[in-house]
Amino acid sequence: MQGVVLVLNAGSSSLKFAVFETAEGRLAPLGAGQVEGIGATPRFVAKDAAGRPVAAPSWDAGGAPANHAAALDAIIAWLEPALQGRPVAAIGHRVVHGGPEHAAPVPIDLHVMAELQELVPLAPLHQPHNLAGIAAAARRFRGVPQVACFDTAFHRTQPFFADTFGLPPAFHARGIRRYGFHGLSYEYIARRIAAEDPALGAGRLVVAHLGNGASLCAIAGGRAQASSMGFTALDGVPMGTRCGQLDPGVVLHMIDAMGMSTAEVARLLYNDSGLKGMSGISHDVRAIEAAGGEGAERALGYFAYRVRREIAALATCMGGLDALVFTAGIGENARGLRARICEGLGFLGIALDPARNAANAPEISAPGAAVRVLVRATDEERMIAEHTLAVIAEGGPR
Ligand code: ADP
Repeated sequence: MQGVVLVLNAGSSSLKFAVFETAEGRLAPLGAGQVEGIGATPRFVAKDAAGRPVAAPSWDAGGAPANHAAALDAIIAWLEPALQGRPVAAIGHRVVHGGPEHAAPVPIDLHVMAELQELVPLAPLHQPHNLAGIAAAARRFRGVPQVACFDTAFHRTQPFFADTFGLPPAFHARGIRRYGFHGLSYEYIARRIAAEDPALGAGRLVVAHLGNGASLCAIAGGRAQASSMGFTALDGVPMGTRCGQLDPGVVLHMIDAMGMSTAEVARLLYNDSGLKGMSGISHDVRAIEAAGGEGAERALGYFAYRVRREIAALATCMGGLDALVFTAGIGENARGLRARICEGLGFLGIALDPARNAANAPEISAPGAAVRVLVRATDEERMIAEHTLAVIAEGGPR
């Protein structure tokens, strides 16, 4: 394939991108970045191939893009010198929801677009923006193949008990399932561990993807077994602004007894809960740690408690554990939280080496500990680019 692979990840107010050069089937990053604040005060942030910040347009004096299509044009204009005439040969999109059927990435055509449109009610906060990104790219790059890569796809291998709720089967048949999310991150980590150490990759992993959104996934033999996230990205551990696991009776009570509207409950659960709501300080771990005090202790303590509990629960789903892998912003950097999470997991064979943990070392378990504890940077964009290349090259998903 001649040219570059463009990866797009369209969120509600941002358009993230990454560009990879293809050489003999291998992918080399050319640059990445995002236009954030679309619809408010847009800002362009860009990084070079090595991840160093580089100059990007400033719209202080006007000319800011008003929507995703205009943001895409700004990204293309910025990329053009770096592309040096090489064409965009394929575009890979992150799409949050692939529904119950899509267990792999798919080439996008009108039929797929219609199918993905039908899934909007399952992910109303994300799916419409993902589809808007695809439409903008299709207009800008007529005839260039586009591939949809789903956050839910990796989890489609999970067994029925991990996929269902305790409801009559008709609900499962109608799509009320535990879909799981962050699948592209889990797939990247599972493949990376398998490439580094095939025996470990064939073993039992719990991967903790702890960012603003946070979930954990049990992976055995490279295949997803269970996830802390369920039907929506609200379930599981508390997150930057989302509550995590909640008794569904609380929602009924808020609506029936407290007189809250569904919109108010949704705002509370998605935007005003989790670390932000509990701390009263911020959604951001660094800001909470810096502020300290009772609110910080409440939020960080609960976060660590729920992540710890989920690790043990997911290990149980696999009958044991060979490695715990931390990834994403908190997982890769928040050494204090990692230490708190692992406290009390000695019974599972988890013990940290304090110096390695403090140094964010790639392996932070104590020498001789039964379970290896690893820290790895995730790379969802590269995973999307790999899938895109494979779908285009092989004429089908891999
Ligand atoms: P997103 O889900 O938006 O991609 P990230 O993966 O970037 O989020 O994670 C963001 C979180 O990581 C924030 O809570 C941030 O405070 C935390 N984080 C990043 N760096 C550090 C650090 N050095 N110490 C503690 N927390 C950190």
